[in-house]
Amino acid sequence: MARDFAADIQDPIAGEIVTNVGVWVDKEVKPQASEFEHADQFPEPLLQGMSDMGLFGIKIPEQYGGLDLSFECYAGVCMELARGWMSLAGIINTHVLVGYAINEYGTQEQKDMYLPKFVKPDMRCALSITEPDAGSDAQAIKTTARRDGDDYVINGQKMWVTNGHRAGVYLVMTKTDTTAQPRHKGITAFLVPHETPGFIKGKKFEKLGYKGVETTELAFEDARVPATAVLGGNEGRGFQHIMSALEVGRINVAARGVGVAQAAFDDSIRYAQHREAFGVPIFQHQAQQIRLAEMIVKIRAARLLTLDAARKKDSGVRSDLDAGIAKLYATEIANECALDAMRIHGGVAYSKELPVERYYRDAPLMIIAEGTSDIQKTVIARNIVKEYPI
Ligand SMILES: Cc1cc2nc3c(=O)[nH]c(=O)nc-3n(C[C@H](O)[C@H](O)[C@H](O)COP(=O)(O)OP(=O)(O)OC[C@H]3O[C@@H](n4cnc5c(N)ncnc54)[C@H](O)[C@@H]3O)c2cc1C
Repeated sequence: MARDFAADIQDPIAGEIVTNVGVWVDKEVKPQASEFEHADQFPEPLLQGMSDMGLFGIKIPEQYGGLDLSFECYAGVCMELARGWMSLAGIINTHVLVGYAINEYGTQEQKDMYLPKFVKPDMRCALSITEPDAGSDAQAIKTTARRDGDDYVINGQKMWVTNGHRAGVYLVMTKTDTTAQPRHKGITAFLVPHETPGFIKGKKFEKLGYKGVETTELAFEDARVPATAVLGGNEGRGFQHIMSALEVGRINVAARGVGVAQAAFDDSIRYAQHREAFGVPIFQHQAQQIRLAEMIVKIRAARLLTLDAARKKDSGVRSDLDAGIAKLYATEIANECALDAMRIHGGVAYSKELPVERYYRDAPLMIIAEGTSDIQKTVIARNIVKEYPI
């Protein structure tokens, strides 16, 4: 079926969960999303619904109270959330990503301290890599962490931190050795609680889209954390840990692309059948049929690529190639489909009364965040060339 995200999910339990989330999205999210979005209001009531379905603990092991579901299921859930409102999938993205990093790479003490708290939205997580002078080139960060007895002292400035004001704990990428070569060997990740002295929450960015969820600056001015806050306990492993966790983020963003593209298609095919021009519904004009056919082919391909990447991650191996392919394709077609929906709706698309303008404003974020499309292409090329030794 065109719009049944569960249809291609291999695990029947995962499929059922995705279907249930889709029902909730149609009932609770679709009718309210534009209101929250236009007011740039954090959707607290919708978080309760997500929490009731266990979505904050979707990847947390059962021993810590989570659902411990597959990435395949997670991808389907994110498609459904984004079909309703892309920001909802953004709210859980860094949360799930940081939980994954702690579960995979954290010390037992870190797992015991944090994972049971992550199953509810009361303690949410943010990821902080990007700085004013370091985005795509993440290894160029300037934030430092200096060892001082049993503590580390962090100094630096971060920007574009999603969930930056409301998170309870931040996974922060720092340099513990600014001279290390290769550079990644000097990078260490810290788990920084929000109440840490010297940790300052800065301004919230006014954004084109991706509203409701805040994206902020952060500053560290002699912020002191115990050595036990180093993710996994060892210096110099932060880059690998965060890159592995970013595969989870790229699956999330790919799924968001599928969800937004699907929403754009759903609205367009309905509109095309009742809007008339030249005496017939515009769907009868072949140009619109071709446009809609091209949209659904792209959406289906993006959906399958995203589920494929999620299943690769489920198999326990590095999946940066698969996640990169899915993220690149799904987010690029989301932008194309959002623009196609604008064309199909004509002038009314430009009005805030319909959600089409929201899809159009939300889509560009996805070709930027979690690695731009250019960066995905370099990741893909670097992986593929290994298969062609000379
Ligand atoms: C709304 C929003 C939310 C975000 N949330 C977070 C978050 O929660 N945490 C976080 O850490 N970051 C977050 N980011 C930051 C995001 O990950 C970066 O914006 C992104 O990685 C790109 O970095 P940049 O903006 O510095 O662009 P730049 O790195 O300056 O890139 C500018 C342009 O140059 C191109 N370019 C750069 N290097 C290359 C290359 N090697 N080859 C070809 N082209 C290249 C890029 O593709 C791009 O077109 C967020 C960003 C936005 C907009």
